[in-house]
Amino acid sequence: MDFNKADYSVIVSTLRRNFKDGYIAKYEKRLEQLQAIYRLVVDHQEEFHDAGYKDLRKPTTEACFADTQFVNRECGDAIKALKTWMKPENISTDLLNMQHSAKILHDPLGVVLVMGAWNYPVQLCFIPLIGAIAAGNCVIIKPSELSIHTTELMTKLIEQCLDPDIVQVVNGGVEETTELLKERFDKIFFTGSPSVGKIIMKAASQYLTPVDLELGGKCPAIVDETCDMQLVANRISWARYTNAGQLCIATDYVLCISDNVQDRLIECLKKTLDGFYGENAQESPDFGRILNLRNFKRLQKLIDPSKVVYGNHLDEKDLYISPTIMKNVSSDDPVMQEEIFGPILPVLSVANVDEAVEFVQENEKPLALYVFSKKNDVVNDILARTSSGTVCVNDCVLQVGITNLPFGGVGMSGMGCYHGKYTYDAFTHRKSCLFTKQKNESMNKFRYPPYDYNGRAM
Ligand code: NAD
Repeated sequence: MDFNKADYSVIVSTLRRNFKDGYIAKYEKRLEQLQAIYRLVVDHQEEFHDAGYKDLRKPTTEACFADTQFVNRECGDAIKALKTWMKPENISTDLLNMQHSAKILHDPLGVVLVMGAWNYPVQLCFIPLIGAIAAGNCVIIKPSELSIHTTELMTKLIEQCLDPDIVQVVNGGVEETTELLKERFDKIFFTGSPSVGKIIMKAASQYLTPVDLELGGKCPAIVDETCDMQLVANRISWARYTNAGQLCIATDYVLCISDNVQDRLIECLKKTLDGFYGENAQESPDFGRILNLRNFKRLQKLIDPSKVVYGNHLDEKDLYISPTIMKNVSSDDPVMQEEIFGPILPVLSVANVDEAVEFVQENEKPLALYVFSKKNDVVNDILARTSSGTVCVNDCVLQVGITNLPFGGVGMSGMGCYHGKYTYDAFTHRKSCLFTKQKNESMNKFRYPPYDYNGRAM
């Protein structure tokens, strides 16, 4: 359902009223809504996959493991764990307070806004929604206006299957979002680019609304000479070219420790890509398309043909950019100035581990860092001297699927984290409570005036 601008305040105030009236306070209601999300995705899995294909030519396998099945795993886990998550935590006290009991209670925040991005629209809306509901909040979801078919489907199904007194969908682009952000929320959970993340944070500051910013950036892979290059090429290619490179934790560029490593890796990358997508990736059912013409043209400008060693076949009408590799790229090249978010892989060569570390340190802190080496001391050295939201050693992207690992950025790649219990925590206020009893008042004499220590420190 699309709303007029004036309706936004009505939606927020209605949800706030419902929240205060306890509509989603009880375990049973939260469970019911989580079960409804689970069913919604299971029952309409194929429709989601079709919508993903229409939006991005997303292959069903990719839509399954990164969208629908990912959501169901998170939702299934939340359903199982909900009772435990909601339990107050007993906290031990000190000698002075041994007669009292301390607990942390889990308060929901209130009315929260979840804004998703278009590249994995199902998981990016539903996973935060699962945590927000589990934690007992009323939720407004603002899916991306750019994943047109998936957003239309999600809107329809959420309105059909979830309780409108608890969850509402608001659709629209920049203009609508700008209006929506004028409302007061108790949390904003945003997935998108760092530049829009700043706009979100500024809007949130009006009411000191806490924000969770799941952003992007350039995620490096560092490769040294000890590696099995074909294995590295397979893993890096999968992370770079899946969803046509439109993945926030894709390998954005590769730092090879030595020219020789660069040469060997590139030969292996070419072999991998021939194997993955055949001679013509445009005909492969496993290779996606660029979201829209704007992004197509942006990506086109990032390719320097003089550095291309593989690919660079473009078809504007089909929004197709073939898997492309660039060699001997330097930090000044246009492709190194922004997050690529497309099927282009720049490869750079550095002299040693120190130079690789320095390169990463000089740039914004990435959402993910990938280190390929068989030497543990090299891996540990790199991890100790770099900061990134997440890390995967000797592979890429898999860290996002471990739901017991918090997923989120640091610095320009974001703040806050989620997945598994961390999503519940992201939408919960942990309220510290001390429970005392109305007895033993004589023991409190020492803390009431008049004090008996004559001004000396106790
Ligand atoms: P985006 O930041 O351009 O847009 C996100 C949403 O913000 C849009 O759908 C739009 O509704 C709104 N928006 C855009 N401009 C706005 C403005 N000026 N004022 C108010 N609202 C505005 O991001 P995107 O193109 O949807 O997604 C791509 C980015 O998201 C990449 O940077 C990618 O790395 C990142 N991303 C991060 C994760 C993660 O989990 N960290 C996941 C997916 C994508």
